[in-house]
Amino acid sequence: MTDQQMVLIIEDEGDIQTLLRTVLSRNDFDVLVASDGVTGISLAAQHHPDLIVLDVGLPDLDGWGVLEHLRSVSNVPVIMLTAHGTEADRVRGLGAGADDYLVKPFSNKELIARIRAVLRRSQPVPAQQDVYSDGLLTIDLIAKLVSVHGLVVKVTPIEFRLLSAFTRSAGLVLSVGQLLEAAWGNPPTDGQDRVKFSILRLRKKLGWSESGPIVAVRGFGYRYDPPSSARTGETPDIHADEPSSSAAGVTAPPS
Ligand code: CA
Repeated sequence: MTDQQMVLIIEDEGDIQTLLRTVLSRNDFDVLVASDGVTGISLAAQHHPDLIVLDVGLPDLDGWGVLEHLRSVSNVPVIMLTAHGTEADRVRGLGAGADDYLVKPFSNKELIARIRAVLRRSQPVPAQQDVYSDGLLTIDLIAKLVSVHGLVVKVTPIEFRLLSAFTRSAGLVLSVGQLLEAAWGNPPTDGQDRVKFSILRLRKKLGWSESGPIVAVRGFGYRYDPPSSARTGETPDIHADEPSSSAAGVTAPPS
């Protein structure tokens, strides 16, 4: 297994793509490149990069839109590339959930230094949370206990590792190969059916159906949708009917 970290570049300008790719490869990063935001989002979901370098000026969906989408599904570290070094842009980037930003033109040295710094800061792996909890599912990684809505469910070690892998990547698709590696320690090609059957059993045990929160993503793998990230930025306005219905029970004060 390689411990090379993967950086996804989302940038439409060919020269800058090439430059970034070259500098990053020379510094022992695995590199993925997308020339537009939609491709970038889909590569991020498929490959789970360790960090994303995201240009603000992209065709169609711009960098802000991409960032918003990324933040609705993951905490992947993001460094924004911006052409304007204005304070407003910087504040906007950091406020929108970017981890850092670089103003074009930047030096190779600066780029690598920023990437390393963001990666260091975003990976306090030794201080990993002892307990994962999202309101539905709680996993105590020390006591090895799983509970759903507060009720402890007995799971096997493999099921425990599956659930731990899902919650570590909550909201992101994990390939069958990644799940095999995480739960069985198998090479990602060995025993793909095991994943399917274990997930079937696990869902049954936890009282979950095919529709969630562990969902199959055809052609890719499986995803765990925690209750809070199940919604996107476009939440339906569920309050629309409330004022009239609650007002019906209230008598108007005398005027
Ligand atoms: Ca651009």
